[in-house]
Amino acid sequence: MTERSTLSTVRCDYADAGGSRAVHLTFDDGPNPFCTPEVLDVLAQHRVPATFFVIGTYATEHPELIRRMIAEGHEVANHTMTHPDLSRCGPTELHDEVLTASEAIRLACPLASPRHMRAPYGIWTRDVLAVAASAGLTALHWSVDPRDWSRPGVDAIVNSVLANVRPGAIVLLHDGYPPDEEGLPSGSTLRDQTRTALAYLIPALQRRGFVIRPLPQLH
Ligand SMILES: [Zn+2]
Repeated sequence: MTERSTLSTVRCDYADAGGSRAVHLTFDDGPNPFCTPEVLDVLAQHRVPATFFVIGTYATEHPELIRRMIAEGHEVANHTMTHPDLSRCGPTELHDEVLTASEAIRLACPLASPRHMRAPYGIWTRDVLAVAASAGLTALHWSVDPRDWSRPGVDAIVNSVLANVRPGAIVLLHDGYPPDEEGLPSGSTLRDQTRTALAYLIPALQRRGFVIRPLPQLH
């Protein structure tokens, strides 16, 4: 099965969820001690929920950020233990990457119960989907990608989301960066565009009649 045809079986939005103008914000590649608190501050200011697809090793390093996410009403989801390209992992490694990440999240915050998984780089295979399902995780892609990780500028991030958002959209943003990208500009600088864009984006979406909601509970 090719990557493309596999992707067609992975949920990319919730457009079928009853005709409401819901939008779902998701953040990948944290928690990060500099970027994540700033993103959480903006979400708290606007009282909107998000889902954080966290990397297991980072959850272990910063359990306080996982606890803050949960305490502030956000969902913590699985983005694997070390963020590899799962299509290049053997069966044991694939299994461990997914299972240990869920365990790391639960260890960081016993109240956390990961329900969703997103494959690093959005690279899904049949084996990845099988492991996710066996771990009780719903595979979740995205429908709106402003490529905030490439630092295209605050306006570009905001405009890209507003141009592409539809009812039920799942928006992909980043509150950290994967282990293999360490060594880039340090501190919060790397995701400052994301944080600033978010502060514009939330009211702009609301003015257009969208409601920022948690991911629906399907199981
Ligand atoms: Zn990622």
